[in-house]
Amino acid sequence: MAPTDCISANLSRIRSAMEAACQRSGRAADAARLVAVTKYAAMEWVKILTTLGQWALGESRPQQLAARAGEFSANGVSSVEWHMIGHLQRNKVDLVVPVCTLIHSVDSVRLARRISQIATRQQRTVPILFEVNVSGESSKDGFAPEGLQAAWDDLIRLPGLEIRGLMTMAPRVDNPEQARPYFAQLRELRDGLAARLEDECPLPELSMGMSGDFEVAIEEGATIVRIGSSLFAGLSQESAAGAPG
Ligand SMILES: *Cc1c(COP(=O)(O)O)cnc(C)c1O
Repeated sequence: MAPTDCISANLSRIRSAMEAACQRSGRAADAARLVAVTKYAAMEWVKILTTLGQWALGESRPQQLAARAGEFSANGVSSVEWHMIGHLQRNKVDLVVPVCTLIHSVDSVRLARRISQIATRQQRTVPILFEVNVSGESSKDGFAPEGLQAAWDDLIRLPGLEIRGLMTMAPRVDNPEQARPYFAQLRELRDGLAARLEDECPLPELSMGMSGDFEVAIEEGATIVRIGSSLFAGLSQESAAGAPG
């Protein structure tokens, strides 16, 4: 199958499954949005996604995000939304802030302070999510739930940040049902933190769910799912950008 047909078929299948999961949980069919994770995708595949109307793209490496954002804008394409989903070092914040729609992976107070500093300097407001390590696995980045609760009053005072919600990665499990409690915990944590804010619609976003577990995540309230491998299933790995790792 040609790459366009393959990606198009994968995308339709994923979008239908997302809609079905929204409806099963009594939400509007478009209550969850897809961020296509392109960290291992060849640029050719990324362009195909945009021609299919998939404009929200996620990258985990700041350099690749900045380079690809630069390539699209050099070609006069300004509709792409870039989502930073991977660990962000403080010395790379400058690189992503000007081109990023949403930083999902703010995983420490020090990083939040750095983004706030750059945002203030560049006279911007930067939309962010706080990444939470709900499962407590040592291999994962993110705030411990209690750590985020403890730092909350300081975090919400940082200028230049628009705190949109929370993000998590569930542990790798055999059956997606096993990931459900982690998604529910992120939602409960969000509800508790939102109650401490006076905004009209505080912390609207829950970024959770990947190829293996996005349907369960949507049932538990995800508003953004981040999907990579199943979008590109069936395509030859040889033409992908950089092997995993
Ligand atoms: C790679 C990645 C994804 C996508 O994972 P798939 O299993 O390929 O869908 C989602 N979120 C983050 C943070 C990632 O690094």
